[in-house]
Amino acid sequence: MGFVDPYEEAKKQLREAVDLLGYGVEVYEALAVPERVVQVKVPVRMDDGSLRVFVGWRVHHNSALGPYKGGVRYHPEATMNETIALSMWMTWKCSLMGLPYGGGKGAVRVDALRLSRGEYERVSRAYFSALSRFVGVDLDIPAPDLFTNPQVMSWYVDEYSRIMGGQYFGVVTGKPEDLGGLRVRTYATGLGVAIVAREVARRVIGGIEGATVAVQGYGNVGSNAAIFLEEMGAKVVAASDIYGGIYNSKGLSTREVKETVDKTGSVINYDKIERKISNEELLTLDVDILVPAAVENVITERNAPEVKAKIIVEGANGPTTVEAENILTEKGTVIVPDILANAGGVVTSHIEWVNNRMGGWITEEEARRKLEEKMVNAFKATWNYWETKLDMKKQNMRTAAYLIAVDRVVKAMKLRGWL
Ligand code: GLU
Repeated sequence: MGFVDPYEEAKKQLREAVDLLGYGVEVYEALAVPERVVQVKVPVRMDDGSLRVFVGWRVHHNSALGPYKGGVRYHPEATMNETIALSMWMTWKCSLMGLPYGGGKGAVRVDALRLSRGEYERVSRAYFSALSRFVGVDLDIPAPDLFTNPQVMSWYVDEYSRIMGGQYFGVVTGKPEDLGGLRVRTYATGLGVAIVAREVARRVIGGIEGATVAVQGYGNVGSNAAIFLEEMGAKVVAASDIYGGIYNSKGLSTREVKETVDKTGSVINYDKIERKISNEELLTLDVDILVPAAVENVITERNAPEVKAKIIVEGANGPTTVEAENILTEKGTVIVPDILANAGGVVTSHIEWVNNRMGGWITEEEARRKLEEKMVNAFKATWNYWETKLDMKKQNMRTAAYLIAVDRVVKAMKLRGWL
Protein backbone atom coordinates (compact mmCIF):
# COMPACT_ATOMS: atom_id res chain seq x y z
CA MET A 1 0.00 0.00 0.00
CA GLY A 2 1.54 3.27 -1.05
CA PHE A 3 0.57 6.88 -0.70
CA VAL A 4 -3.17 7.52 -0.78
CA ASP A 5 -4.14 10.69 -2.63
CA PRO A 6 -7.26 12.12 -0.96
CA TYR A 7 -8.44 13.65 -4.25
CA GLU A 8 -8.36 10.21 -5.89
CA GLU A 9 -10.33 8.84 -2.93
CA ALA A 10 -12.87 11.64 -3.19
CA LYS A 11 -13.28 10.98 -6.92
CA LYS A 12 -13.84 7.25 -6.33
CA GLN A 13 -16.60 8.06 -3.83
CA LEU A 14 -18.17 10.52 -6.28
CA ARG A 15 -17.99 8.03 -9.17
CA GLU A 16 -19.86 5.42 -7.14
CA ALA A 17 -22.58 7.90 -6.19
CA VAL A 18 -23.00 9.22 -9.73
CA ASP A 19 -23.27 5.65 -11.09
CA LEU A 20 -25.81 4.58 -8.47
CA LEU A 21 -27.92 7.67 -9.10
CA GLY A 22 -27.97 6.73 -12.77
CA TYR A 23 -26.23 9.89 -13.98
CA GLY A 24 -23.60 9.69 -16.71
CA VAL A 25 -20.02 10.69 -17.19
CA GLU A 26 -20.95 14.34 -17.85
CA VAL A 27 -22.29 14.73 -14.33
CA TYR A 28 -19.22 12.99 -12.92
CA GLU A 29 -16.87 15.32 -14.73
CA ALA A 30 -18.88 18.40 -13.84
CA LEU A 31 -18.44 17.48 -10.18
CA ALA A 32 -14.96 15.94 -10.15
CA VAL A 33 -13.31 19.16 -11.34
CA PRO A 34 -13.37 22.09 -8.87
CA GLU A 35 -14.67 25.41 -10.14
CA ARG A 36 -11.54 27.30 -9.12
CA VAL A 37 -8.22 26.63 -7.40
CA VAL A 38 -6.39 29.70 -6.16
CA GLN A 39 -2.77 29.34 -5.13
CA VAL A 40 -1.25 32.18 -3.18
CA LYS A 41 2.19 33.15 -2.03
CA VAL A 42 2.38 33.80 1.70
CA PRO A 43 5.56 35.82 2.36
CA VAL A 44 6.30 36.28 6.03
CA ARG A 45 9.01 38.17 7.89
CA MET A 46 10.09 35.81 10.68
CA ASP A 47 11.09 36.97 14.16
CA ASP A 48 14.79 36.45 13.37
CA GLY A 49 14.54 38.91 10.47
CA SER A 50 14.58 36.32 7.67
CA LEU A 51 11.90 36.20 4.99
CA ARG A 52 10.08 32.93 4.44
CA VAL A 53 7.67 32.20 1.64
CA PHE A 54 4.89 29.73 2.35
CA VAL A 55 2.35 28.45 -0.16
CA GLY A 56 -1.40 28.47 0.39
CA TRP A 57 -4.51 27.48 -1.51
CA ARG A 58 -8.21 28.17 -1.51
CA VAL A 59 -10.31 25.75 -3.53
CA HIS A 60 -13.81 26.58 -4.73
CA HIS A 61 -15.29 23.21 -5.51
CA ASN A 62 -18.94 23.88 -6.27
CA SER A 63 -21.30 26.81 -5.77
CA ALA A 64 -24.57 25.42 -7.14
CA LEU A 65 -26.22 25.61 -3.71
CA GLY A 66 -24.67 28.85 -2.54
CA PRO A 67 -21.40 30.56 -1.57
CA TYR A 68 -18.41 28.31 -0.92
CA LYS A 69 -18.02 27.24 2.69
CA GLY A 70 -15.25 25.44 4.49
CA GLY A 71 -12.31 25.73 6.82
CA VAL A 72 -8.67 26.70 6.41
CA ARG A 73 -5.97 24.39 7.77
CA TYR A 74 -2.35 25.10 8.51
CA HIS A 75 -0.33 21.94 8.05
CA PRO A 76 3.28 21.20 7.05
CA GLU A 77 2.10 18.42 4.73
CA ALA A 78 -0.90 20.20 3.20
CA THR A 79 -1.13 19.81 -0.57
CA MET A 80 -3.32 21.17 -3.33
CA ASN A 81 -4.89 17.78 -3.99
CA GLU A 82 -5.72 17.31 -0.33
CA THR A 83 -7.34 20.75 -0.32
CA ILE A 84 -9.36 19.87 -3.43
CA ALA A 85 -10.59 16.64 -1.78
CA LEU A 86 -11.52 18.51 1.38
CA SER A 87 -13.42 21.11 -0.65
CA MET A 88 -15.39 18.40 -2.41
CA TRP A 89 -16.28 16.84 0.94
CA MET A 90 -17.53 20.27 2.05
CA THR A 91 -19.86 20.39 -0.97
CA TRP A 92 -21.41 17.06 0.05
CA LYS A 93 -21.49 17.99 3.73
CA CYS A 94 -23.32 21.27 3.16
CA SER A 95 -25.71 19.59 0.73
CA LEU A 96 -26.48 16.66 3.04
CA MET A 97 -27.16 19.05 5.93
CA GLY A 98 -29.51 21.14 3.80
CA LEU A 99 -27.40 24.30 4.11
CA PRO A 100 -27.49 27.05 1.44
CA TYR A 101 -23.76 26.63 0.77
CA GLY A 102 -21.40 25.14 -1.75
CA GLY A 103 -18.06 23.60 -0.84
CA GLY A 104 -14.66 25.23 -0.40
CA LYS A 105 -11.47 24.66 1.56
CA GLY A 106 -8.21 26.40 2.23
CA ALA A 107 -4.75 25.46 3.43
CA VAL A 108 -1.35 26.93 4.12
CA ARG A 109 1.62 24.59 4.00
CA VAL A 110 3.16 25.60 7.30
CA ASP A 111 3.87 24.01 10.68
CA ALA A 112 1.84 26.27 12.98
CA LEU A 113 3.40 24.70 16.08
CA ARG A 114 6.78 26.13 15.10
CA LEU A 115 5.53 29.70 14.66
CA SER A 116 5.68 32.39 17.32
CA ARG A 117 2.43 34.24 17.95
CA GLY A 118 3.65 37.15 15.85
CA GLU A 119 4.60 34.85 12.97
CA TYR A 120 1.27 33.05 13.28
CA GLU A 121 -0.53 36.39 12.93
CA ARG A 122 1.60 37.49 9.96
CA VAL A 123 1.03 34.17 8.15
CA SER A 124 -2.72 34.57 8.71
CA ARG A 125 -2.89 38.17 7.52
CA ALA A 126 -0.66 37.53 4.48
CA TYR A 127 -2.75 34.53 3.44
CA PHE A 128 -6.07 36.30 3.83
CA SER A 129 -4.95 39.48 2.19
CA ALA A 130 -3.73 37.47 -0.83
CA LEU A 131 -7.16 35.86 -0.98
CA SER A 132 -9.24 38.96 -0.39
CA ARG A 133 -10.70 39.05 -3.90
CA PHE A 134 -11.81 35.42 -3.68
CA VAL A 135 -13.68 35.49 -0.36
CA GLY A 136 -16.77 37.42 0.72
CA VAL A 137 -20.00 37.22 2.71
CA ASP A 138 -21.84 35.98 -0.40
CA LEU A 139 -18.86 34.48 -2.20
CA ASP A 140 -16.75 32.28 0.05
CA ILE A 141 -16.90 32.06 3.85
CA PRO A 142 -13.85 30.41 5.47
CA ALA A 143 -13.78 28.95 9.01
CA PRO A 144 -11.34 27.14 11.31
CA ASP A 145 -9.89 23.71 10.62
CA LEU A 146 -6.66 22.00 11.76
CA PHE A 147 -4.34 24.48 13.56
CA THR A 148 -6.51 27.53 12.97
CA ASN A 149 -8.88 28.93 15.60
CA PRO A 150 -11.12 31.90 16.59
CA GLN A 151 -8.07 34.18 16.94
CA VAL A 152 -7.03 33.42 13.37
CA MET A 153 -10.60 34.18 12.24
CA SER A 154 -10.35 37.55 14.01
CA TRP A 155 -7.20 38.44 12.04
CA TYR A 156 -8.98 37.36 8.85
CA VAL A 157 -11.97 39.62 9.59
CA ASP A 158 -9.68 42.50 10.42
CA GLU A 159 -7.51 42.09 7.32
CA TYR A 160 -10.51 41.77 5.01
CA SER A 161 -12.35 44.70 6.59
CA ARG A 162 -9.27 46.89 6.27
CA ILE A 163 -8.86 46.03 2.59
CA MET A 164 -12.55 46.38 1.74
CA GLY A 165 -13.26 49.45 3.84
CA GLY A 166 -16.10 48.30 6.05
CA GLN A 167 -16.83 45.84 8.83
CA TYR A 168 -17.47 42.43 7.32
CA PHE A 169 -17.92 40.07 10.24
CA GLY A 170 -19.86 37.57 8.13
CA VAL A 171 -16.89 36.85 5.85
CA VAL A 172 -15.67 34.09 8.17
CA THR A 173 -17.28 31.94 10.84
CA GLY A 174 -15.86 30.40 13.98
CA LYS A 175 -15.08 33.87 15.36
CA PRO A 176 -14.78 34.69 19.07
CA GLU A 177 -18.02 35.76 20.76
CA ASP A 178 -16.98 39.40 20.95
CA LEU A 179 -16.64 39.55 17.17
CA GLY A 180 -20.01 38.03 16.36
CA GLY A 181 -19.10 34.39 16.93
CA LEU A 182 -21.18 31.88 18.84
CA ARG A 183 -19.89 30.12 21.93
CA VAL A 184 -21.47 26.89 20.61
CA ARG A 185 -19.15 26.96 17.58
CA THR A 186 -16.16 26.25 19.83
CA TYR A 187 -17.48 22.79 20.73
CA ALA A 188 -20.08 22.22 17.99
CA THR A 189 -18.20 19.68 15.89
CA GLY A 190 -17.44 17.49 18.91
CA LEU A 191 -20.99 17.80 20.20
CA GLY A 192 -22.32 16.85 16.75
CA VAL A 193 -20.06 13.77 16.73
CA ALA A 194 -21.43 12.76 20.14
CA ILE A 195 -25.03 13.30 19.03
CA VAL A 196 -24.71 11.06 15.98
CA ALA A 197 -22.77 8.51 18.03
CA ARG A 198 -25.72 8.42 20.45
CA GLU A 199 -28.19 8.01 17.57
CA VAL A 200 -26.25 5.23 15.88
CA ALA A 201 -25.57 3.44 19.19
CA ARG A 202 -29.32 3.33 19.85
CA ARG A 203 -29.85 1.46 16.62
CA VAL A 204 -26.78 -0.81 16.60
CA ILE A 205 -25.77 -1.63 20.19
CA GLY A 206 -28.87 -0.75 22.21
CA GLY A 207 -27.72 2.67 23.46
CA ILE A 208 -24.78 4.89 24.30
CA GLU A 209 -25.01 4.23 28.05
CA GLY A 210 -21.99 2.14 29.06
CA ALA A 211 -20.63 1.87 25.51
CA THR A 212 -16.84 1.84 25.32
CA VAL A 213 -15.19 4.46 23.13
CA ALA A 214 -11.71 5.13 21.74
CA VAL A 215 -10.92 8.60 20.42
CA GLN A 216 -8.00 9.27 18.08
CA GLY A 217 -6.98 12.94 18.18
CA TYR A 218 -7.65 15.21 21.15
CA GLY A 219 -7.92 18.58 19.46
CA ASN A 220 -11.10 20.61 19.13
CA VAL A 221 -13.12 17.73 17.65
CA GLY A 222 -11.78 14.74 19.58
CA SER A 223 -11.69 16.36 23.03
CA ASN A 224 -15.21 17.76 22.81
CA ALA A 225 -16.60 14.54 21.34
CA ALA A 226 -15.01 12.65 24.27
CA ILE A 227 -16.40 15.08 26.87
CA PHE A 228 -19.95 14.96 25.49
CA LEU A 229 -19.86 11.18 25.05
CA GLU A 230 -18.82 10.77 28.69
CA GLU A 231 -21.67 13.12 29.67
CA MET A 232 -24.06 10.90 27.71
CA GLY A 233 -22.96 7.89 29.76
CA ALA A 234 -20.36 6.33 27.47
CA LYS A 235 -17.01 5.11 28.81
CA VAL A 236 -14.09 6.69 26.98
CA VAL A 237 -11.33 4.13 27.54
CA ALA A 238 -8.68 5.46 25.17
CA ALA A 239 -7.47 8.72 23.67
CA SER A 240 -4.45 9.76 21.63
CA ASP A 241 -2.69 12.56 19.78
CA ILE A 242 0.41 12.81 17.59
CA TYR A 243 2.64 11.98 20.57
CA GLY A 244 0.88 8.69 21.48
CA GLY A 245 -2.10 7.35 23.38
CA ILE A 246 -3.44 6.44 26.82
CA TYR A 247 -5.72 3.63 28.00
CA ASN A 248 -7.82 2.97 31.08
CA SER A 249 -10.40 0.17 30.98
CA LYS A 250 -12.41 1.89 33.74
CA GLY A 251 -12.75 5.02 31.65
CA LEU A 252 -10.75 8.24 31.42
CA SER A 253 -11.90 11.50 32.95
CA THR A 254 -12.22 13.28 29.63
CA ARG A 255 -12.21 16.78 31.11
CA GLU A 256 -9.07 16.07 33.12
CA VAL A 257 -7.39 14.75 29.99
CA LYS A 258 -8.33 18.00 28.23
CA GLU A 259 -6.85 20.03 31.11
CA THR A 260 -3.64 18.01 30.80
CA VAL A 261 -3.50 18.75 27.07
CA ASP A 262 -4.09 22.46 27.69
CA LYS A 263 -1.33 22.54 30.30
CA THR A 264 1.30 20.20 28.84
CA GLY A 265 0.49 19.88 25.16
CA SER A 266 -0.32 16.18 25.06
CA VAL A 267 -2.63 13.44 26.38
CA ILE A 268 0.41 11.28 27.17
CA ASN A 269 1.12 13.36 30.28
CA TYR A 270 -2.17 12.29 31.87
CA ASP A 271 -1.33 9.77 34.57
CA LYS A 272 -4.56 8.13 35.73
CA ILE A 273 -4.11 5.37 33.19
CA GLU A 274 -3.42 1.65 33.05
CA ARG A 275 -0.97 1.89 30.19
CA LYS A 276 0.27 3.92 27.29
CA ILE A 277 -0.70 2.78 23.81
CA SER A 278 0.28 3.70 20.28
CA ASN A 279 -2.04 5.34 17.78
CA GLU A 280 -2.01 2.14 15.76
CA GLU A 281 -3.13 0.13 18.80
CA LEU A 282 -5.89 2.61 19.58
CA LEU A 283 -7.47 2.03 16.18
CA THR A 284 -7.68 -1.72 16.72
CA LEU A 285 -8.84 -1.76 20.36
CA ASP A 286 -11.81 -3.94 21.27
CA VAL A 287 -14.30 -1.13 21.86
CA ASP A 288 -17.89 -0.46 20.81
CA ILE A 289 -17.23 2.88 19.15
CA LEU A 290 -14.12 4.21 17.46
CA VAL A 291 -13.91 7.95 16.80
CA PRO A 292 -11.05 8.88 14.45
CA ALA A 293 -10.82 12.64 14.99
CA ALA A 294 -7.39 13.53 13.65
CA VAL A 295 -6.43 13.41 9.97
CA GLU A 296 -7.15 11.57 6.71
CA ASN A 297 -6.27 8.00 5.77
CA VAL A 298 -5.66 6.47 9.19
CA ILE A 299 -7.91 3.44 8.63
CA THR A 300 -6.47 1.70 5.60
CA GLU A 301 -6.63 -1.74 4.00
CA ARG A 302 -3.65 -2.63 6.19
CA ASN A 303 -5.28 -2.16 9.59
CA ALA A 304 -8.98 -2.45 8.64
CA PRO A 305 -9.01 -6.27 9.08
CA GLU A 306 -7.83 -5.67 12.70
CA VAL A 307 -10.43 -3.01 13.59
CA LYS A 308 -12.73 -4.46 16.25
CA ALA A 309 -15.09 -1.56 16.92
CA LYS A 310 -18.69 -2.20 15.89
CA ILE A 311 -19.21 1.44 15.05
CA ILE A 312 -16.91 4.09 13.58
CA VAL A 313 -17.96 7.72 13.86
CA GLU A 314 -15.75 9.85 11.61
CA GLY A 315 -14.84 13.01 13.52
CA ALA A 316 -12.03 13.75 11.04
CA ASN A 317 -12.49 14.36 7.34
CA GLY A 318 -11.60 11.30 5.26
CA PRO A 319 -10.11 9.04 7.96
CA THR A 320 -11.16 5.82 6.20
CA THR A 321 -9.84 4.91 2.75
CA VAL A 322 -12.20 3.45 0.17
CA GLU A 323 -10.40 0.08 0.32
CA ALA A 324 -10.63 0.00 4.10
CA GLU A 325 -14.30 0.85 4.01
CA ASN A 326 -15.00 -2.09 1.69
CA ILE A 327 -13.29 -4.44 4.14
CA LEU A 328 -15.21 -2.96 7.08
CA THR A 329 -18.56 -3.07 5.28
CA GLU A 330 -18.04 -6.76 4.64
CA LYS A 331 -17.31 -7.25 8.36
CA GLY A 332 -20.54 -5.44 9.26
CA THR A 333 -18.88 -2.41 10.86
CA VAL A 334 -21.24 0.56 10.78
CA ILE A 335 -19.45 3.73 9.68
CA VAL A 336 -21.11 7.09 10.22
CA PRO A 337 -19.43 9.07 7.43
CA ASP A 338 -17.53 12.32 7.99
CA ILE A 339 -19.93 14.45 5.93
CA LEU A 340 -22.62 13.60 8.47
CA ALA A 341 -20.66 12.87 11.66
CA ASN A 342 -18.55 16.02 11.76
CA ALA A 343 -21.08 18.43 10.20
CA GLY A 344 -21.85 20.07 13.56
CA GLY A 345 -19.15 22.66 12.90
CA VAL A 346 -20.45 23.90 9.59
CA VAL A 347 -24.08 23.72 10.77
CA THR A 348 -23.17 26.09 13.59
CA SER A 349 -21.16 28.21 11.19
CA HIS A 350 -24.35 28.70 9.23
CA ILE A 351 -26.21 29.81 12.36
CA GLU A 352 -23.37 32.24 13.09
CA TRP A 353 -23.40 33.65 9.54
CA VAL A 354 -27.18 34.15 9.60
CA ASN A 355 -26.82 35.80 13.00
CA ASN A 356 -24.15 38.19 11.65
CA ARG A 357 -26.31 39.14 8.72
CA MET A 358 -29.25 39.88 10.97
CA GLY A 359 -27.19 41.95 13.33
CA GLY A 360 -27.03 39.42 16.21
CA TRP A 361 -30.11 37.92 17.82
CA ILE A 362 -29.54 34.30 18.76
CA THR A 363 -28.82 32.92 22.23
CA GLU A 364 -26.47 30.02 23.00
CA GLU A 365 -29.40 27.82 24.03
CA GLU A 366 -31.25 28.48 20.81
CA ALA A 367 -28.18 27.86 18.64
CA ARG A 368 -27.50 24.63 20.49
CA ARG A 369 -31.10 23.47 20.08
CA LYS A 370 -30.92 24.16 16.33
CA LEU A 371 -27.66 22.21 16.09
CA GLU A 372 -29.17 19.20 17.93
CA GLU A 373 -32.22 19.25 15.72
CA LYS A 374 -30.23 19.45 12.48
CA MET A 375 -27.86 16.65 13.47
CA VAL A 376 -30.63 14.30 14.57
CA ASN A 377 -32.76 14.99 11.49
CA ALA A 378 -29.85 14.53 9.07
CA PHE A 379 -28.87 11.32 10.84
CA LYS A 380 -32.41 9.98 10.61
CA ALA A 381 -32.78 10.92 6.94
CA THR A 382 -29.49 9.20 6.09
CA TRP A 383 -30.27 6.11 8.16
CA ASN A 384 -33.76 5.82 6.62
CA TYR A 385 -32.39 6.14 3.10
CA TRP A 386 -29.83 3.44 3.89
CA GLU A 387 -32.47 1.16 5.41
CA THR A 388 -35.19 1.60 2.79
CA LYS A 389 -33.33 2.18 -0.49
CA LEU A 390 -30.04 0.31 -0.14
CA ASP A 391 -28.81 -3.13 0.84
CA MET A 392 -27.52 -2.47 4.36
CA LYS A 393 -25.28 -5.55 4.27
CA LYS A 394 -23.50 -4.73 1.04
CA GLN A 395 -23.66 -0.95 0.96
CA ASN A 396 -22.49 1.36 3.71
CA MET A 397 -24.00 4.43 5.25
CA ARG A 398 -21.60 6.68 3.34
CA THR A 399 -23.27 5.61 0.12
CA ALA A 400 -26.65 6.72 1.49
CA ALA A 401 -25.22 10.09 2.56
CA TYR A 402 -23.55 10.59 -0.82
CA LEU A 403 -26.67 9.71 -2.80
CA ILE A 404 -28.70 12.31 -0.90
CA ALA A 405 -25.95 14.94 -1.09
CA VAL A 406 -24.84 14.51 -4.70
CA ASP A 407 -28.42 14.37 -5.97
CA ARG A 408 -29.27 17.69 -4.32
CA VAL A 409 -26.25 19.38 -5.93
CA VAL A 410 -27.04 17.88 -9.34
CA LYS A 411 -30.63 19.13 -9.10
CA ALA A 412 -29.40 22.65 -8.28
CA MET A 413 -26.93 22.54 -11.17
CA LYS A 414 -29.73 21.49 -13.52
CA LEU A 415 -31.97 24.28 -12.29
CA ARG A 416 -29.19 26.76 -12.93
CA GLY A 417 -28.62 25.41 -16.43
CA TRP A 418 -25.14 24.03 -15.73
CA LEU A 419 -26.03 20.50 -16.85
N1 GLU B 1 -13.54 22.88 9.00
C1 GLU B 1 -14.82 22.37 9.35
C2 GLU B 1 -15.21 21.22 8.45
O1 GLU B 1 -14.38 20.54 7.91
C3 GLU B 1 -15.88 23.46 9.44
C4 GLU B 1 -16.12 24.25 8.21
C5 GLU B 1 -17.02 25.47 8.42
O2 GLU B 1 -17.52 25.69 9.52
O3 GLU B 1 -17.21 26.16 7.44
O4 GLU B 1 -16.37 20.89 8.34
